[in-house]
Formats: sequence, C-alpha cells, structure tokens
Amino acid sequence: MHEVSVVSDLVSAILRELEKYNAQSVEEVTLVIGDMTSLGEEQMSFAYEIVTKGTKLEGSKLVIEKEAVRALCLDCGYEGPVNNIQSDYDDHYIPILSCPKCGGRVKVTAGQTCSVKNLRIVEA
Ligand SMILES: [Zn+2]
Repeated sequence: MHEVSVVSDLVSAILRELEKYNAQSVEEVTLVIGDMTSLGEEQMSFAYEIVTKGTKLEGSKLVIEKEAVRALCLDCGYEGPVNNIQSDYDDHYIPILSCPKCGGRVKVTAGQTCSVKNLRIVEA
C-alpha cells in the first residue's frame, strides 16, 4: 500500500517538527492531498492510525482536505482547473494534463503534492 510509505514520511517529518516545540501531544493534523497524488483518503486514515501508534501523534485526529489539480497553459496563459476523466475502477478522477481552452501544454501549479497544512498541538 503506497499510502503507508507516504504517511510514514509525513509522520516522521511532523515528529521532527514537534521536537522544536514543547509538545505533549497533538490534537489534530490537517493534510492537504492533491488530486494528482492518487492517494486514497480512507487508506491514508488507516495508514495514519497504524503509523502513529506509540508516537506523540497517537490518538490525534487526521483531517484530510483535497486539493484540485490546477494548471498554467504555456501556450495561451490559461490558469485554472483542468478537465478530468473518471476512473473505471474507483471514484478517483484522472486529470487530463492539457489546456482545457486550447489543448496546449500545461504546467501543473497545484494538486500534485501531499502536505501538512496545520498541526494543533497540546503544549506540555
Ligand atoms: Zn491554453
């Protein structure tokens, strides 16, 4: 499961960050997951529970926000959401990486990463 390795990386980054604060525990972690990462919300929550066991993050609430894919067209300058095809296998959307206006080449500007947006810390 791809999600487990992604969550492991995030959790160790968060734990490193927590060392800078006098944190007793963490109440809530908000993640932003880009639509292009193909990470499943349920799998992320499941992986989070496993990975955080025995750490300062154990028992914290995981909040997941989705970020739509946005792109900048290199030909006409369009900036905004791209068109999607719905996957046959699940409810995942596959972004089409060409300009919805002119079909030109685009540079993805949002939705391709998974990042920590917010940590709610309980201070010791
Ligand atoms: Zn264009």
